Amino acid sequence: MQRCAVTHALLRRRWVGNLPACSAGARRVHTQPDKADAIDLSKFPVERIRNFSIIAHVDHGKSTLADRLLELTGAIAKTEKNKQVLDKLQVERERGITVKAQTASLFYTHQGHQYLLNLIDTPGHVDFNYEVSRSISACQGVLLIVDANQGIQAQTVANFYLAFEAQLTIIPVINKIDLKNADPDRVEAQIEKAFDIPGEECIRISAKLGMNVERVLQEIVTRIPPPTFSTDDPFKALVFDSKFDHYRGVVANIAVFGGQVRKGDKVVLAHLGKSYEVNELGVLRPDEHPTNRLYAGQVGYMIAGMRDVKETQIGDTVYLLQQPVEALPGFKPAKSMVFAGMYPVDQSEYTALHSAIDRLMLNDSSVSVQRDSSLALGMGWRLGFLGLLHMEVFNQRLEQEYNASVIVTAPTVPYKAVLSSPKLIKEHGGEEITIVNPAHFPDKSVVSHYLEPMVMGTILTPDDYTGNIMNLCLTRRAIQKNMVYIDDHRVMMKYLFPLNEIVVDFYDLLKSLSSGYASFDYENVGYQPADLIKMDFLLNGKPVEELTTIVHKDKAYSMGKAMCERLKDSIPRQMFEIAVQAAVGSKIIARETIKAYRKNVLAKCYGGDITRKMKLLKKQAEGKKKMRRIGNVDVPKDAFISVLKRKDK
Ligand code: GDP
Ligand code: MG
Repeated sequence: MQRCAVTHALLRRRWVGNLPACSAGARRVHTQPDKADAIDLSKFPVERIRNFSIIAHVDHGKSTLADRLLELTGAIAKTEKNKQVLDKLQVERERGITVKAQTASLFYTHQGHQYLLNLIDTPGHVDFNYEVSRSISACQGVLLIVDANQGIQAQTVANFYLAFEAQLTIIPVINKIDLKNADPDRVEAQIEKAFDIPGEECIRISAKLGMNVERVLQEIVTRIPPPTFSTDDPFKALVFDSKFDHYRGVVANIAVFGGQVRKGDKVVLAHLGKSYEVNELGVLRPDEHPTNRLYAGQVGYMIAGMRDVKETQIGDTVYLLQQPVEALPGFKPAKSMVFAGMYPVDQSEYTALHSAIDRLMLNDSSVSVQRDSSLALGMGWRLGFLGLLHMEVFNQRLEQEYNASVIVTAPTVPYKAVLSSPKLIKEHGGEEITIVNPAHFPDKSVVSHYLEPMVMGTILTPDDYTGNIMNLCLTRRAIQKNMVYIDDHRVMMKYLFPLNEIVVDFYDLLKSLSSGYASFDYENVGYQPADLIKMDFLLNGKPVEELTTIVHKDKAYSMGKAMCERLKDSIPRQMFEIAVQAAVGSKIIARETIKAYRKNVLAKCYGGDITRKMKLLKKQAEGKKKMRRIGNVDVPKDAFISVLKRKDK
């Protein structure tokens, strides 16, 4: 018991900060001692509040700057161990990337006044852009971080425009000036040229060493305007994020857009109109610190006994039961770019997986879901993601946070077909249908034409690599739209791509072609007519619905051949020969053969102990569980995705 208490205290010390060691000394920054249960937020009227997010390209140092800001303001103790403390998820730590926006409230004293700074750290990768756009809606300003060595990259541009269009104050910060190859003058010139921001507005820092970070805090206070909400208005708050806690139910992150809310208040969530009693309120620093009230302009969390994930929609409005208000506009739903089937490895886990997906979606509202079923894989879902990395991360989180084991089928982009058959048009209630499962791709005989989704891609690269990159784009059916120099050696190119050409592996290839220097971002630009055909794959003559792919006519042969080869590599040899074939309609266009191989695990077990034999057989059976039986062939569960990864160029 005693030991537990000590460990707990130690854990708290790391997060809560204000240890004598860190608050000692005459640091100019105020490190406010806050008792866990009594932070009084009433001393922060709106004019003393600043809400900002940190945005940047991947790896330019957002999370590291967040660490320093947390330390400087005493939210966490200053130790060597603080490395991207806001990246709390296991997948973030393992991959070293931020996938979830995180909130932290900081207390900071400037010219004798105490300020409440609400920081939101955001992910940089294009697949998590939805997190950035939602974060921005709770802010009045942003810190736009640019690496002093790498300069402006594709997501720097994308994120700049998100903030610019939302009319937020943008503070450019040039980071990593400690690096040997840092060239802040050049980066400053790029910022001037690309964003029309005067160079003298840039702050030069090293987030890693803490150089000049104090200045960032001062500029946040002086340059970013306070929110314009009033405490006198009726209470109104936006749910901008949420998560599911096994013991306490839904924990909603809210931004208060007016009035105030107290513990014990009866509140309503506008979407379903259900009312709840507020059990707990607080701020995140970055762990939860309960408070008795939250006021206009503040950002915090609320627990109000919501148990069902469907009750809390991200973008919903909270108001007081006795004081109804008009709902806030909320968020545009995320647009899924990649769809894949998701199935439990074992059908008996269907219900458990269902609730795991529901709960995870509460923390990741950019996923879309609909029921689906397949002959080989049973009952499951068709999930929509913002990109392939998003899909992988969602999958990994399901496995790590919910202990779920899933099979994911080959990803596909949402195609459209314009029907010509009057009967089908009547059945679907319209001419145009969207196809998110290739198995349901309608035949040419009932279709007037097909459409495929297009994106406008932005590539930033040193000019040494433009030739290689242009060749790569050509092989991906891309059309160049623009090419400009943003400084003497850096080029920004715009290409119109069919989405399916970039979704799986384009980024990896671009990186390897440019020794890691080129960066890429894209946005949706609607649909274009395309010559599409459906390609089936057969294992020993049996079609594998989960591998059915839609391809452009010109690429059918090369794609069919490549996928058969990769299938051959990813399916282990079995006791009989397996024919792998690609077919368009009834025509076989490619074939590979997997030779028979007899694996008798008992071969080396002459006589001897029966329990040893049983153990070996059990181990073999467990190995098989990770496979999926299709016809009489066992297919490993990751084969569905790995066959799609192209190796060309
Ligand atoms: P994010 O993806 O923008 O959140 O970037 P991170 O904060 O995770 O940082 C990416 C990498 O850059 C990490 O290895 C950091 O240690 C490193 N880094 C961040 N800031 C600095 C800096 O000021 N100087 C140097 N040398 N490295 C830095
Ligand atoms: Mg980060």
